[in-house]
Amino acid sequence: MENLYHCLRCNYCVEMRWEERGIQHVCPTLLHHNPAPGYSGKGYLAAARALLEGEELPINSLIERFFNCTTCGNCEEVCPVGLRPAHLVRRIRAAMVEQGLAPAPIAARAGNVIEHHNAAGAPIETRNNWAASVEGVAADAATLYLPGCAASCEAPAEARATVSVLHQAGWPVKLLPAERARCCGAPLEEIGYPAEAGAERRELAEAIEHSGCSRVVLSGAECLASLTGTQFVGGVEVLHAFDLIERAVADDRIGFTPKANGAPGPVGVLDSCHLSKPSHGVSGAAHYPRRIRALLERLGCQTVAAADQGSYAVCCGAAGGMPQMSPQSAARMADGKLRSFAGAGAVVVIAASPLCVAHLRRSGVRDVPAVMGIFEFIESYFHLRPIA
Ligand code: SF4
Ligand code: SF4
Repeated sequence: MENLYHCLRCNYCVEMRWEERGIQHVCPTLLHHNPAPGYSGKGYLAAARALLEGEELPINSLIERFFNCTTCGNCEEVCPVGLRPAHLVRRIRAAMVEQGLAPAPIAARAGNVIEHHNAAGAPIETRNNWAASVEGVAADAATLYLPGCAASCEAPAEARATVSVLHQAGWPVKLLPAERARCCGAPLEEIGYPAEAGAERRELAEAIEHSGCSRVVLSGAECLASLTGTQFVGGVEVLHAFDLIERAVADDRIGFTPKANGAPGPVGVLDSCHLSKPSHGVSGAAHYPRRIRALLERLGCQTVAAADQGSYAVCCGAAGGMPQMSPQSAARMADGKLRSFAGAGAVVVIAASPLCVAHLRRSGVRDVPAVMGIFEFIESYFHLRPIA
């Protein structure tokens, strides 16, 4: 109710520009799907208000609108009164799903997770196929590595590189048996299936507890939000793989030297929504953009300033069911990001979220920077050396 009746109609979520903060646009849906204000944070609030007040609205157009938001939360970042349109979108989606109104591609995505326990719909027994020839997996390791659905099924090179770098840094990892490696629930939560998301998350939490490990290391940014935000995993440290490597570098446990091929020229950093926008619930999310660039600079890499970055970065279109609901709009979102990095002079774009990496690679854009996961990048261009 607070959200519905406190909108100032200031239009920040529609057309905010604030050069000093790197804000040129806010909403990827307005930019690349439909510029009508009904598709903005303000528009979603107004539609929900009208529904609550019993106004008759055309249901098909409402469904199309509510399922074409990436749930990135950028409108929440810029809202001067702290309203939560992205949270509201998830709630309205859940109500629509409950009434059997889920669009077919959204229902199919939900079905993938419910039946196969991963968003790609890959058979569960293939979940650990990415690890077939990776060194650094040990059944008695104290650290559990959960790559998440995106790295396991769509960006396996990032999962392999992560295990390899952690192994070289002195942390062998254990994996969950394929049949227990469930989804964290994030893909279901964002498309309106909260109860099913909770069931997945509970099963994953039980598998984590059963593993006996004292630490869980993740690749998925949305998995980090899902597992740390809900306190499902008590007594076990949960962190992103980047956190662990950053800590080892800061403690002078490890160092990096460039490989013979040398680090590539200017690097663009894609700030994934879950690792930059506090509204997704990851502790210290707003600091990841600075920390990731600081690590790259310590490795001797030059990073480029993109048109939008940090907590206000415009979403690449990977999440919220956007690639399933409107694949062409989602591809335009990815295209827009990559062209912006190319314009800033980047020759490679890296992201700490495998979901974004897989989406950018799928976008089909040509003549733009190469896309790599952050560990894939480190492994490709640097030798890791333990410091005595
Ligand atoms: S959550 Fe993102 S895509 Fe959805 S309305 Fe807000 S800014 Fe636009
Ligand atoms: S930024 Fe917030 S207050 Fe301003 S129009 Fe958007 S939702 Fe309303």
